[in-house]
Amino acid sequence: MVKKVIKTEEEWRAILTPEQFEVTRKHGTERAFTGQYYNFKGRGIYKCVCCGNELFSSEAKYDSGTGWPSFWQPIREDSVYYKDDYSYFMHRIEVLCSVCDAHLGHVFNDGPPPTGKRYCINSVALKFEPATEEK
Ligand code: FE
Repeated sequence: MVKKVIKTEEEWRAILTPEQFEVTRKHGTERAFTGQYYNFKGRGIYKCVCCGNELFSSEAKYDSGTGWPSFWQPIREDSVYYKDDYSYFMHRIEVLCSVCDAHLGHVFNDGPPPTGKRYCINSVALKFEPATEEK
């Protein structure tokens, strides 16, 4: 079972930047090609910017050409959960942080092998932690 982090809107607003708050707590979307991670190739782990939950590994990151960081799988099956999203007259699958319910982005079925999934995630919802070199 995932232990939830629950905060009020005011508490989130106090610890997040306005852009982080807008995307993660208000289901916003950063503009394509503006985020800090879409073209980033560091080795490590992407965590939830709100609660620190581990979400994606750089090993599952690929360049989708969309202008948002894209992954073919989450780091663990229960790191994220999904909701049907019918906004903007489309049916999309929303991806949320399983610990704090942050809106992260959407998942599509046009990704690369082995999963065929494209997790299209807002940079601003993520905090990258570089891998520590063992040696
Ligand atoms: Fe979170």
